[in-house]
Amino acid sequence: MEVDDERRTLIRIVRQRLEALGRAGVDRIPLPSATAIPQPGPIPRASAASPPIPAVVRPPTTAPTRLTSPSPPPPAPAPPKVAPVVAPIPARVERAATSPAVAASLFGEPELAAAVPEADRGPQLAVLAAEVAGCARCPLLAEARTQTVFGEGSATARLMFVGEAPGADEDRTGRPFVGRAGVLLTDMITKGMGLARDEVYIANVLKSRPPENRTPLADEIAHCLPYLERQVEIIRPQFLCLLGKTAASALLETALPLGRLRGKWHRYRGIPAIVTYHPAALLRNPAWKKEAWEDLQVLMQAMGLKAPERKKP
Ligand code: SF4
Repeated sequence: MEVDDERRTLIRIVRQRLEALGRAGVDRIPLPSATAIPQPGPIPRASAASPPIPAVVRPPTTAPTRLTSPSPPPPAPAPPKVAPVVAPIPARVERAATSPAVAASLFGEPELAAAVPEADRGPQLAVLAAEVAGCARCPLLAEARTQTVFGEGSATARLMFVGEAPGADEDRTGRPFVGRAGVLLTDMITKGMGLARDEVYIANVLKSRPPENRTPLADEIAHCLPYLERQVEIIRPQFLCLLGKTAASALLETALPLGRLRGKWHRYRGIPAIVTYHPAALLRNPAWKKEAWEDLQVLMQAMGLKAPERKKP
């Protein structure tokens, strides 16, 4: 009898969640394949001396399943006992509403909202930016700032960088990462990864500058995080690069130190995320640049990017 009650309760919960997804416009759920969802865990270190051969990132091949016949996903494969030569490639996060992330959310993972059509992403970001510009949830920061720093880049970017908070240059210009740390980040994107800065999206956890560039307080992060979460939902990048401990702790909800977060893939709402040093930390500790470059190479390998050829002097 108790088993029947539990079964009925489970069926009712699944039905309610499917109906909620249906109301949100989701009518299909792809079955996750063994390679569809990256499993958080250690990744082998890329060699700075011999850049990895970029692998082709393939979309999941499993046929989508109708909502009317939900099936539990197959069990996640056990992590390999022997480290492969190249890093496992996190699967692309599909931009349709039927992304693996949404499918996985049926079974207890945090949800991304239904995908925003690409044409609507820029306008929706503009509306959100206008809301942020008038925000005074943190009275001290709102009082002291020159202006908010919302973020910039492609509204349909494959890759989104997330830093900590605006500094003096950002507060003055209203743009993220434009000071010395911004120049270094731009070099990492353009000279290191071979991308244009406006191909990616760059944002911070906080949209207002903390006084004297101090570390954001917990309540300030709690106040501002919903804006960043909405940015991620609108842009729906395929990869996240979290710059420094504040960004990693806020999005991954962890108190682990940066050293424990680097060197492995994480997921934020189904999006593969890599953690590396904040460019400002690299300016203070140039010896860490080698490790940051290794992190970028892992990311590039997963994205199928190749480092640009260096011009001979
Ligand atoms: S830091 Fe964020 S939440 Fe706080 S006042 Fe600025 S925009 Fe608002």
